[in-house]
Amino acid sequence: MCRHAAWLGPPRSLASLIFEPEHGLLPQAYAPRMQRFGSVNADGFGVGWYDPSRLEPVRYRRSIPIWADANLPGIADVARSSCLMAAVRSATVGMPIEESATAPFSDGVWLLSHNGRVRREAVALMAAGSESACDSAWLASAVFTRLREGMPVAQALPMVVRSVAEADPGARLNFLVSGGAELAATTWGDTLFAHLGQGVLIASEPLDDRPGWQAVPDRNLLLASPDGVLVTPIH
Ligand code: GLN
Repeated sequence: MCRHAAWLGPPRSLASLIFEPEHGLLPQAYAPRMQRFGSVNADGFGVGWYDPSRLEPVRYRRSIPIWADANLPGIADVARSSCLMAAVRSATVGMPIEESATAPFSDGVWLLSHNGRVRREAVALMAAGSESACDSAWLASAVFTRLREGMPVAQALPMVVRSVAEADPGARLNFLVSGGAELAATTWGDTLFAHLGQGVLIASEPLDDRPGWQAVPDRNLLLASPDGVLVTPIH
């Protein structure tokens, strides 16, 4: 099970998700505190952020452990944005370990991270055109197809979760999705926490021991925008 995190609010650096907090994504890669499936996240990592100079997000993904990339600390210090996403990966058995299997996935303005697993049959049709033969890439493709059709993310995400979970009741479907101005996240089988302050910080597990981290209940959709945060059950 992977760990992912995202920020929406006043510009801050990627380092504030990865390196600076006591339990940021770097320590979560080798010593996650709440991980239920898998024990280390050494099968790659990815970061994505939005810069005012371009519409589409910038990404940097590698298929090596996050602690093994000597260039990332410098990049993470200068990559500052009002919207950030980062993930460390523990590949599901049978899934390829390659850059294209590593979150965040992207399509146009969208960034997507998936924490969980799904059986191939459950997404067979939806997975057409996916970037990698990895279950997360199939799911990303399913969500992107709906977003490309113009469906709002608040509708597209729960719709994919419901239909996939129906086809594979054992699926775990924790997503993070952003188009740069908002963040959407689902809980379906794994943990997610939110910390509200000047902006919204969400993460599979708290990045530090500050008070204020709130657990998002399972089977919910979290929507964060500059107007606030809304959590609603996915039925
Ligand atoms: N199933 C996905 C993969 O293989 C995600 C794994 C995870 O959440 N650990 O990469």
